[in-house]
Amino acid sequence: MAKCPTCGKEVAPKKSWKMAGRPDKAGKRTELTIGLCECCGKTFRTTLNKQKI
Ligand SMILES: [Zn+2]
Repeated sequence: MAKCPTCGKEVAPKKSWKMAGRPDKAGKRTELTIGLCECCGKTFRTTLNKQKI
Protein backbone atom coordinates (compact mmCIF):
# COMPACT_ATOMS: atom_id res chain seq x y z
CA MET A 1 0.00 0.00 0.00
CA ALA A 2 1.10 3.54 -0.70
CA LYS A 3 -0.08 6.91 0.46
CA CYS A 4 -1.59 9.29 -2.07
CA PRO A 5 0.36 12.59 -2.00
CA THR A 6 -2.84 14.54 -2.68
CA CYS A 7 -5.40 13.14 -0.23
CA GLY A 8 -3.25 10.95 2.02
CA LYS A 9 -5.40 7.87 1.43
CA GLU A 10 -3.80 4.46 1.30
CA VAL A 11 -4.03 3.06 -2.20
CA ALA A 12 -3.07 -0.31 -3.61
CA PRO A 13 -0.61 -0.17 -6.50
CA LYS A 14 -1.98 -1.04 -9.94
CA LYS A 15 1.35 -2.25 -11.10
CA SER A 16 4.69 -2.93 -9.49
CA TRP A 17 8.12 -3.80 -10.72
CA LYS A 18 11.65 -4.22 -9.45
CA MET A 19 14.46 -1.91 -10.29
CA ALA A 20 18.12 -1.93 -9.37
CA GLY A 21 19.18 1.12 -7.41
CA ARG A 22 22.62 2.62 -7.49
CA PRO A 23 25.29 0.83 -5.49
CA ASP A 24 26.32 2.36 -2.17
CA LYS A 25 29.91 3.13 -1.07
CA ALA A 26 30.58 -0.52 -0.28
CA GLY A 27 29.36 -1.54 -3.74
CA LYS A 28 26.19 -3.14 -2.42
CA ARG A 29 23.29 -2.84 -4.74
CA THR A 30 19.83 -2.01 -3.58
CA GLU A 31 16.86 -3.54 -5.28
CA LEU A 32 13.86 -1.25 -5.26
CA THR A 33 10.28 -2.31 -5.70
CA ILE A 34 8.44 0.48 -7.44
CA GLY A 35 4.68 0.72 -7.46
CA LEU A 36 2.44 2.65 -9.78
CA CYS A 37 -0.66 3.91 -8.02
CA GLU A 38 -3.67 5.85 -9.14
CA CYS A 39 -5.74 8.17 -6.97
CA CYS A 40 -7.41 11.58 -7.29
CA GLY A 41 -7.29 11.22 -11.09
CA LYS A 42 -3.52 11.12 -11.01
CA THR A 43 -0.95 8.39 -11.20
CA PHE A 44 2.10 8.46 -9.01
CA ARG A 45 5.09 6.27 -8.44
CA THR A 46 6.24 5.18 -5.06
CA THR A 47 8.93 2.98 -3.58
CA LEU A 48 7.22 0.04 -1.94
CA ASN A 49 10.28 -1.78 -0.75
CA LYS A 50 14.05 -1.52 -0.62
CA GLN A 51 16.25 -4.51 -0.33
CA LYS A 52 19.99 -4.99 -0.30
CA ILE A 53 21.08 -7.66 -2.74
ZN1 LIG B 1 -5.92 10.61 -3.49
